[in-house]
Amino acid sequence: MFGKGTKLYSIFKMKCPRCQEGDFYKGHPYIYSTMGRVKEECSECNLKYNIEPSFYHGSYYVTYALGVALFVIVGILTYLLVPNVGPKTILISTFVSLVILSPLFYALSKIIWINFFVKYDKGILKKRS
Ligand SMILES: [Zn+2]
Repeated sequence: MFGKGTKLYSIFKMKCPRCQEGDFYKGHPYIYSTMGRVKEECSECNLKYNIEPSFYHGSYYVTYALGVALFVIVGILTYLLVPNVGPKTILISTFVSLVILSPLFYALSKIIWINFFVKYDKGILKKRS
């Protein structure tokens, strides 16, 4: 399920969606200076990551979906794990987890977005050598 050649491999390893060898980001999502900064192209297969101007604006929809999923998951977990929980506690726990996970969601949204449009090509590195 998470093996090489799957979209999940590219997303969670943050690798190029086409060859799954080259790094997608300039740095770690939690390092402020490189937060969410995508490389110009893949170092292995030379795929241009910025497919067209403003390409990553569509990733906002992915960020929204991730935020909603987090809200539901944290809300349910808080409700189940904390006795006599009120709506204020659920909102605070959701907000805190959203603040902590925002850099990761920002990074995940872009790599998920490009994976909608670029397919894995097993032989791309052999073709280029
Ligand atoms: Zn590549």
